[in-house]
Amino acid sequence: MSDNTLNIQMVDLKRQYLRIKQQVDNAISNVIDSTQFINGNEVKEFQSELSDYMGVRHVITCGNGTDALQISMMALGLKPGDEVITPSFTYIATTEVIGLLGLKPVFVDCDSHTFNISVKEVEKAITKNTKAIVPVHLFGQSCEMNEIMKIAEKHNLYVIEDNAQAIGCDYKGFKESKKTGTIGHIGCTSFFPSKNLGCYGDGGAIMTNDDDLAVKLKMIANHGQSKKYHHDRVGCNSRLDNIQAAVLRIKLKELDQYILNRQAAAAYYTQKLTNISGVITPYLSDQSNHVFHQYTLQLEDKVNREDLMSYLKERHIPSMIYYPIPAHKQKMFSNIPASIGEMNNTDWLCSRVISLPMHTELDYQQQDYIIENINNYFNNL
Ligand SMILES: *Cc1c(COP(=O)(O)O)cnc(C)c1O
Repeated sequence: MSDNTLNIQMVDLKRQYLRIKQQVDNAISNVIDSTQFINGNEVKEFQSELSDYMGVRHVITCGNGTDALQISMMALGLKPGDEVITPSFTYIATTEVIGLLGLKPVFVDCDSHTFNISVKEVEKAITKNTKAIVPVHLFGQSCEMNEIMKIAEKHNLYVIEDNAQAIGCDYKGFKESKKTGTIGHIGCTSFFPSKNLGCYGDGGAIMTNDDDLAVKLKMIANHGQSKKYHHDRVGCNSRLDNIQAAVLRIKLKELDQYILNRQAAAAYYTQKLTNISGVITPYLSDQSNHVFHQYTLQLEDKVNREDLMSYLKERHIPSMIYYPIPAHKQKMFSNIPASIGEMNNTDWLCSRVISLPMHTELDYQQQDYIIENINNYFNNL
């Protein structure tokens, strides 16, 4: 059976938009009417609503998630040659800004179950030049933040959380549950359209509970400006515009429901796929819930991943590999002095993972079709 009428996509932003179309269209039209395109009221309100949602003192919006990471590293005063520990199994932005600022990336392996940075490897990678750790809550599940914060405290290191894929995720490793992105010294997120809280263009945010850091972050994102036309340090120009903020205010109200939709879709996939030999369904940590930015399977060595992907593609089922090449093997780092630990899990995962369609609008008909075809593929092997 090959069915194109189901219109299955990796992320279905159109159907999501149609549910909130009236509100979004009105909000955008109001911003245009006001002609307050930059630094308007929507941005202020969104920052305050997001800080309430996250339970964090300061939210500073910026141009995108990559800028958020860069501005964070600048605000912490990291200097060329300082070492920053980061996973290699991540989206390139996390590691790119380390190189951009002339810092030294120290790549460590990930845990084979959670795909997140291995705490044991972090500890091994620390030297006298280490200044910061950048854990990434990959695919929507929290890193072991209790352990990471303990290591950071012991060695006097900064922690910048890359929360671009896990906004809304609850980490339960402390006495009180906390939102990922609010645990380290700084948390960064992205509002790229396909992210769990996405706008209709580019956007990002930085969050912190530290009042002094908040002042610096705000200043750096705005040309290093302390007051109008007084520029105290070299910064950059990175801002969220008012139209994007207006869209995000509407979508923030939906975020918890969006997460429930993703979790329901993930649970259904797992229930139906868990017994297929050769397929490993996502691991669920007991320290964190999972907000399923991606639903990612591991395929055992006997499965030909490319063959499975083209089988699905012929049946109008998209799938993706996040990520085919780890950061430590990217050409961009061949000129940058980096430290690379053992990467057994990372290398294995890059050759073995496959992500299935995952979004807020997946319905049972679509999922049944996807599941049936995956089953057929394995039954015919
Ligand atoms: C998307 C993403 C970023 C970058 O966000 P942009 O808004 O695209 O710049 C950074 N880190 C991770 C893990 C991401 O998924």
